[in-house]
Amino acid sequence: MRDIRCGKCSALLFRAEHDAISNVIEIKCRRCGTLNHLRPIEPASDRQERQPDRVLHEIQR
Ligand SMILES: [Zn+2]
Repeated sequence: MRDIRCGKCSALLFRAEHDAISNVIEIKCRRCGTLNHLRPIEPASDRQERQPDRVLHEIQR
């Protein structure tokens, strides 16, 4: 499971398995109102398979 967080305020939006998203998703943050666009493939984390979790966290900060 991975945490999907708001790109602006880092509020937790939802949690999902890595392959649970099969298409583009738009979700509005309940805290700050930012519309987050999520894609099924995370380019940075998928290309660096050694430490996907660490890469993902760095992107979200
Ligand atoms: Zn937010």
